[in-house]
Amino acid sequence: PQVARLVASRVLDVPDFPKPGVVFKDLMPLFADGAVFREVIDGIVAYHGRESFDAVAGIEARGFVIAAAIAYATGVGVVPVRKAGKLPRATHSASYALEYGEATLEVHQDAFTAGHRVLVVDDVLATGGTAEATLDLVERAGGTVSGFTVLMELAFLKGRERLAPRPVHALLTV
Ligand code: 5GP
Repeated sequence: PQVARLVASRVLDVPDFPKPGVVFKDLMPLFADGAVFREVIDGIVAYHGRESFDAVAGIEARGFVIAAAIAYATGVGVVPVRKAGKLPRATHSASYALEYGEATLEVHQDAFTAGHRVLVVDDVLATGGTAEATLDLVERAGGTVSGFTVLMELAFLKGRERLAPRPVHALLTV
């Protein structure tokens, strides 16, 4: 559809970032284009519908940008899922494997109202490790994940399979 083409038109392929052999999808041109960013956010809201979630969780750091815009557009609150050591109060924490080493994400233990349906948001879905850890955190903090939404999905890394049966929505799949 049109919004997929719009996303595709504002992505830059960056070879060998963050390490040799990886082609990084840089979405900064999309964020920087006001008209495109607005259409993308409106597209996400239209897909999910305004009544399908009670809060938005954004994954540090690019997910914050998207989550905040969705929250503003729909009038729900936004919750940051942060890298280890950034949140000031009691947290739940989830560690997951990277290709080399490990990463940890955290969320405040009181971040969600019990039973609230939470839309989880990030810019790119790759292997799904980040998303899987986040879904776990949201549920441990009392939220119910209504779905996971990204601007772009790298299908060859099979992140979607890892998150099944939870619904994953990508504006653009490559
Ligand atoms: P995963 O855990 O699914 O392997 O990686 C997804 C996480 O890493 C997301 O938080 C995403 O922002 C980041 N990421 C991985 N690959 C890319 C990429 O090619 N482009 C961008 N913009 N982010 C990526």
